[in-house]
Amino acid sequence: MKRARRAPDEALRRALDDVRARCDVAARREADPVHFVHRYATLEDREIVALIASALAFGNVKALCAKIEDALGRLGPRVASMADDPEEVRKRLSGWKHRVYRDRDLASLVVGARRVQRAHRSLGAALEAKLARASDLREALSAWAAEIREEGEFGEATGSQEPPGRGAEHILPDPGKGSAVKRLMLFLRWMARPADGVDLGLWSLSPSRLLVPVDTHIHKLSMNLGLTERKAVSWKAAEEITASLRRLDPDDPVKYDFSLCHLGMLQGCPSRRDPVKCEGCGVKPVCRYWQAGRSGRGGA
Ligand code: SF4
Repeated sequence: MKRARRAPDEALRRALDDVRARCDVAARREADPVHFVHRYATLEDREIVALIASALAFGNVKALCAKIEDALGRLGPRVASMADDPEEVRKRLSGWKHRVYRDRDLASLVVGARRVQRAHRSLGAALEAKLARASDLREALSAWAAEIREEGEFGEATGSQEPPGRGAEHILPDPGKGSAVKRLMLFLRWMARPADGVDLGLWSLSPSRLLVPVDTHIHKLSMNLGLTERKAVSWKAAEEITASLRRLDPDDPVKYDFSLCHLGMLQGCPSRRDPVKCEGCGVKPVCRYWQAGRSGRGGA
């Protein structure tokens, strides 16, 4: 399949700004797990809820939202306070599961996050502390996730008859292993990007340090737009896509993520010029497949 050359940065910026402007934020937020975070008022509840919602943000959006709803309903309206009682958390989550994750995995995440939150005042402050000692975001995030995993370990003397699960180690990925850690990056985006009706702007971490949360939609569109040539969804691909977006906005490169991801969810992109499936696609003017077909000239 032929593709045109990557569009100039100015054309990319215009197209992506237009996609952002045309995004029905209120409607799309309701179809996105971030909407759970907006239900809560305090920083401590929002951090824990955001960590739960982002950790489960994979697969069918309707199914994952139902599982988040179930988990949050069990934990009650004051999630952070509830997390101060590990045995109660386990009891309330008993029997909960979502695909590969079991009740113990989620309970460990909640309890570990709360312990780290109490030790540092917030999960954001905990990450800032790691950043102060690390050489880059990846190293800091790796240490931050490791602390939550360690703090979330349950002793064996709980008397629980529940299926084992693997604890927070299972549900909270390690960025050091080379994957794009999309769910962690989603969590960071929600916390650190300025409040815009979707993201919440709760942390002082500069948005310029964030990496794009790369899921299949973002990866496919990024390939089509020439933001990356990497075929695998990996940390390096996330870096490359973010570097491309940084050229459009150095201070806030991931601001395009929400609208672009939802465009991908709605469009059913075929990654080829298809007048029916491409109808209404906001990135047509800079899509290499669409432009190649239009001009009749292929290229790298
Ligand atoms: S124009 Fe078509 S191929 Fe290109 S990104 Fe949009 S839907 Fe995909």
